[in-house]
Amino acid sequence: MSKEIIKLSKISKKFIGANKDVSVLKNINLKINSGDLVSLTGPSGSGKSTLLHLIALLDKPTSGEVFFRSKSFSKSTEVEKDLVRKKGISIIYQQNNLLNDFTAQENVAIPLVNNGYNWEEANKKAIKILFSVNLSKRLNHFPSELSGGEQQRVAVARALITEPDLILADEPTGSLDRKTANEIFSIFLKLKSKNRAILYATHNRELANKADYKLNILDGNITRKNA
Ligand code: ADP
Ligand code: MG
Repeated sequence: MSKEIIKLSKISKKFIGANKDVSVLKNINLKINSGDLVSLTGPSGSGKSTLLHLIALLDKPTSGEVFFRSKSFSKSTEVEKDLVRKKGISIIYQQNNLLNDFTAQENVAIPLVNNGYNWEEANKKAIKILFSVNLSKRLNHFPSELSGGEQQRVAVARALITEPDLILADEPTGSLDRKTANEIFSIFLKLKSKNRAILYATHNRELANKADYKLNILDGNITRKNA
């Protein structure tokens, strides 16, 4: 059964600048359910990253409310939001932000250690997830010893190890070739089959069209289209 994971109610976001204010999002209403695979498109600078950061509770809206699993986070402390992010929401960036001094396996294990698992348990689970993204032969490689696509798959594995209900991806395939981008996308499809919700920003029309539905941002407004 699908249930609501995230809801945005009348969200606006304005950046206040020295010379000029920028109204990036205007009165956005949006709901994403478990099992939804949703693409997010829009020109560069249209507010895709801003929207993902608001949903990830990394930034606050100028007005409106963000609900995660029906709970409003308007009045929550940073500690409360941090806890939700640690267990419920993962974000994947175009630049994968792996820790260079740690192996693939260690990079993936670290979020679980931060969630209180011991090192051995965390590593066991990291190995399992790395197998599932076809990196069983790269466990002990450092990021510098991996291709761009392999690094991005490690970043995806790292985002998944905490079993988040919601995966946000900010142009995760932007720097990848078509074959590797499709590999990342096939991982998203597997997650959908496990009833996770995935929202991914992309400039790639082909990948955007593979979603259940598409969200497009233009001039601060979001429109929803069937893919
Ligand atoms: P996208 O991800 O679609 O390329 P962004 O969400 O990064 O777009 O940015 C949307 C707009 O908001 C841009 O015009 C950008 O310059 C502006 N912006 C983003 N972050 C800030 C900030 N911290 N301060 C001021 N303006 C910002
Ligand atoms: Mg962006």
